Amino acid sequence: MFCQQCGAEIPNDSVYCPNCGRNGIGEMASTSPYPNAPYAGPEIKSYLTHNIVAIFFCWPLAIPGIINAVGVNSAIGEGNYQLAQEKSEKARSWFGWALGLGIVGIIIRIILTAARASM
Ligand SMILES: [Zn+2]
Repeated sequence: MFCQQCGAEIPNDSVYCPNCGRNGIGEMASTSPYPNAPYAGPEIKSYLTHNIVAIFFCWPLAIPGIINAVGVNSAIGEGNYQLAQEKSEKARSWFGWALGLGIVGIIIRIILTAARASM
């Protein structure tokens, strides 16, 4: 059979797609402890690219972001969508902090440079 989300060919007895991680395929409903599995819906983002970009803004905060982002992908690979969701949220918030502090730092630097130039 084929994945409804990404179209990859997957074994008929699969409960999730190994290509995109989509849950709830085939006989999932009868085997899952959560019949209305919330992870069958939207894809779980890893925010890996975001956090790699964040290195340029504020690298000390981007490091835990990257660690969590890598954890998202491995949790999806293991089929642990709850853990993947948690790590995804952590990766997103680390990215938010890195970006926020990075932008504040850049603004302060611009102000200081402008102040020095005007003296
Ligand atoms: Zn798929």
